[in-house]
Amino acid sequence: MFIAHAPAGYITSRLLAPAFARTGASYRSFVLCGMLGAVAPDIDLLWFVFVDHRQHSHHSYFTHLPVTWLLAMALSLLWMRRRPATGVLAFSFSLGGFGHMILDTVMGGIRWLAPLSDQTYVFFTPTSDFVGMWWFYFLFHWSFKLELAITLAALLFWLKPHRTSQR
Ligand SMILES: [Zn+2]
Repeated sequence: MFIAHAPAGYITSRLLAPAFARTGASYRSFVLCGMLGAVAPDIDLLWFVFVDHRQHSHHSYFTHLPVTWLLAMALSLLWMRRRPATGVLAFSFSLGGFGHMILDTVMGGIRWLAPLSDQTYVFFTPTSDFVGMWWFYFLFHWSFKLELAITLAALLFWLKPHRTSQR
């Protein structure tokens, strides 16, 4: 996925924010961390381009392994027990990263069982049509409509006032 990660992080963290309101973290910080976590795995594109020189799919890096984000969520839950206000922000960030794994399973592929297995799970694998003018074909692909739907849903959520959004 390309454009839906941050909107998906917004939807998820906004829906979950009331459940963590008693931790002392602000609503805005919780949602911001969720959105940052939702795009964080793709920071590996810098490594992919500038260090790895496109030798391996960036989905093969640890930043695109679900186990990374599950571990981060577990650690943030432990952190939350000692320091609730900051631990919950780490949890929101980690959950955003895990949501990124789900969305990247639609197109691109994720190694859900790594490090136990190198099997990649994906709903749709781009064909040779996607080479070269890939962005053009992508605009008319069903997965882009899904991305637009997620983005539109996030926009509708954003337009609707949230009872804890003033904190
Ligand atoms: Zn990604």
